[in-house]
Amino acid sequence: MKKMASVILTLLSTSLFAACGNQVETTNSSDASSEPNQIEVVATFYPMYEFTKAVVGEEGQVDLLIPAGNEPHEYEPSAQDMTKISDADAFVFNSQALEKWASNGLDSVNQDKTKVIEAAKGITLSESDANSEEAGELDPHVWLDPVLAQKEVQTIEEGLAEKFPDKSETFKKNADAYIEKLSDLDEEYQAAFKDAKQRSFVTQHAAFGYLAKEYDLKQEAISGISPEEEPSAARLAELKSFVESNDIKIIYFEENATSKVAETLADETGVQTEVLSPIEGITQEDMDDGVTYISIMKDNLKSLAKIIK
Ligand code: ZN
Repeated sequence: MKKMASVILTLLSTSLFAACGNQVETTNSSDASSEPNQIEVVATFYPMYEFTKAVVGEEGQVDLLIPAGNEPHEYEPSAQDMTKISDADAFVFNSQALEKWASNGLDSVNQDKTKVIEAAKGITLSESDANSEEAGELDPHVWLDPVLAQKEVQTIEEGLAEKFPDKSETFKKNADAYIEKLSDLDEEYQAAFKDAKQRSFVTQHAAFGYLAKEYDLKQEAISGISPEEEPSAARLAELKSFVESNDIKIIYFEENATSKVAETLADETGVQTEVLSPIEGITQEDMDDGVTYISIMKDNLKSLAKIIK
């Protein structure tokens, strides 16, 4: 009899607790699984991480899924990564054209628990015009266009607001403040290329197609949409004659990918090399030094503006 009473008491207190918990949730958070005020979001690679952090602000924590120093084109998530995504309140990735595993790899994720946000959703992706075997593949590099980046931030904000309606005002305020920075960045790019006569540039991989289109520039890429792809001998010969006949003075390469071909082409044509980052694999050191998407985009602008000098 005594035992029975204690069971009833336990049941009672449990349901009391549950009632209490529910009350807390309705005032502070719509999500029952996390702590009342802190949300947990996982984002795939650096720009997605920074955009999401800007929107979330003080409301929670954002984790970078793809380890610093890796690039997202070839990345395959581990079982541990999938657990991380499943445990999170929301998951942000760029697009199915980049994180290809996110199209069917997410079947194991309970999307009632984890809100899945595809940041590039709503942006019409262009087909690659790369003169390569990747021709016709969709170009995922929208984050490198300061205007399309604003759309991505908005999509992240809307997705998070759907999951956490009681935080939507804060997300909106945070997103607007960050979009303001992107809009300033856009103005800097516009001003730099407004009267440029030289509008062509040669890059290592075809990451700057949207940026080029935005500012009426022309990208000529050594390899295709994925940095791994090697150009053919015929393509290299074509590039060589492009550099020579278009008065190209600089060939852009990336610090963290295979830059050998870009260097060879620069050597053979006698032009300089400069770094242009696709912001795909930011290093831990850079992150610790306070390097951001905005700061790299400004460095890219300084570097790219040299084509007109
Ligand atoms: Zn890329």
